[in-house]
Amino acid sequence: MSECIFCQIASKSIPADMVYESEDVVAFLDRHPVSPLHVLVIPRIHRETILDLSDEEWRGIHGAINTIAHEQGVAETGFRLVNNCGVDGGQTVAHVHFHLLGKRSHHWPPG
Ligand code: 5GP
Ligand code: ZN
Repeated sequence: MSECIFCQIASKSIPADMVYESEDVVAFLDRHPVSPLHVLVIPRIHRETILDLSDEEWRGIHGAINTIAHEQGVAETGFRLVNNCGVDGGQTVAHVHFHLLGKRSHHWPPG
């Protein structure tokens, strides 16, 4: 079995609050939310960072984010989309994921 925590969430070996599932992409609530809406969007396939995604995988994730933004009610109000890439980016889970943050206003620059 994969050691990767997000692979295990995608395969339902460990539980998470799922908000979206397709053949290629899943999304679930972050266990330590930093915004009232904090969704993690991941490819089902294990890819370490955004630099490892194919064009097709990017397209699938983009489509999922579009659907999730509408379903979660932030398409009109706006939201923040974050990807932490590698050590300097602050990535702590080595399975590429996008943080979709909403339902409050977000400021710039981030911390
Ligand atoms: P990173 O710092 O790698 O960009 O973000 C990893 C995120 O994954 C963090 O916000 C953290 O709270 C979340 N996370 C880590 N492990 C789990 C888990 O087992 N379940 C859920 N739902 N979120 C997790
Ligand atoms: Zn993985």
